[in-house]
Amino acid sequence: MLEPERAVVQLTQAMVRIPSENPTGNEVALSRFIREWLEAHKIEVQLQAVEGERVNVIGRVRGQGGPPLVLIAHMDTVPIGEQAKWKHDPFGGEIEDGSLYGRGSCDMKGGMAAALVVLAKLQRAVQEEGLNLSGDLVLACTVDEEESLMKGSSALGHAKIFGPDAYLLTMEPTGCKLNVAHKGAFWYEVTFLGKLAHAANPQIGVDANRAMAEAITGWYQRAEELASKMAPHPLLGLPTLVVSRVQGGIKTNVVSEYCRAEIDMRVPPPLTATEVASLLQGVVEQVEAKWQGITSEIRPMTTLRPPVECDPHSPLVAAFDRGYKSVLGQEAEHLGFQAYTDAAMLAVMTGNPNAVVFGPGLLSDAHTTDEKVEISQLITAVRVLEATARELLGK
Ligand SMILES: [Zn+2]
Repeated sequence: MLEPERAVVQLTQAMVRIPSENPTGNEVALSRFIREWLEAHKIEVQLQAVEGERVNVIGRVRGQGGPPLVLIAHMDTVPIGEQAKWKHDPFGGEIEDGSLYGRGSCDMKGGMAAALVVLAKLQRAVQEEGLNLSGDLVLACTVDEEESLMKGSSALGHAKIFGPDAYLLTMEPTGCKLNVAHKGAFWYEVTFLGKLAHAANPQIGVDANRAMAEAITGWYQRAEELASKMAPHPLLGLPTLVVSRVQGGIKTNVVSEYCRAEIDMRVPPPLTATEVASLLQGVVEQVEAKWQGITSEIRPMTTLRPPVECDPHSPLVAAFDRGYKSVLGQEAEHLGFQAYTDAAMLAVMTGNPNAVVFGPGLLSDAHTTDEKVEISQLITAVRVLEATARELLGK
């Protein structure tokens, strides 16, 4: 293997071996490792405090002051789940049949390793070969992407570290394809309150569980109706709704006075937060009108996460397309990303029209038992990313 190729594999292994599961949100050891790695490669480092010891680590290769290319990679992973179900050590970074295994290998320590290697390569080119970059090449390693508040990218957005002209590229697993649109992701908690009674005397109580049952049926029906009336978005398809958690009741022989549900709704443009809220609210009002004594509360569980589309004329997309073709000899496909990312958060918070997703590994391997990333994908990611950075900033 050539040097950067060995480097990306070893770096992915090293970072998989440093657990950073969220919950509990413990990225401290990994953030220290990344900081030291950047410093060892003579790359400028900035730390942004987020919460307690949790910091975003920002590495920067200096350019001439034009719009920066900001690569984004989150340091946290989801938990490993039941370790006994893993065939490979979740924190071992084992390699078998051309794939590297472990929690975070695909989502997204492999992508973060690719970005680090590209920063180091361009830092060396700037220092030793006199390469001039029009703008900075930045890597922002964030905390807390896997939780609902996405505190890392939220802190970046609040501090306005990157303006609306920055080119945002998050290294989530896309199978090394360019994803130029994000589905909106809305999470709500709905609570119904009723009145306790002996289950032998249900007529004197107000059954919150029964009200919730009706609401759940209503939400699914309304979401299906909404989808049936829309043409699918070419990149993001149709809206979906899932009632993913329901909790209610205290005992078998007691009418439940309390029931809460969590709802995940994903929507393509042109749907907005307003349509999602009114769909949920409409059903709740019907239920309240029908069941005397039921009261309700609807609460958003996240900051606003509407759909995000990259400007098709963004120089970032053009540079990626040229870089991709120069490396792989074929035109880059443009796809949509079904999940939400740090880049989408930043784009919404700062009014930035240049947010895309590109990274090694398949989204279907993320968050799984025996999570893995193909080594060939890691190497392709380094090559395409370097070519994109040079196309965008190198002249
Ligand atoms: Zn991820």
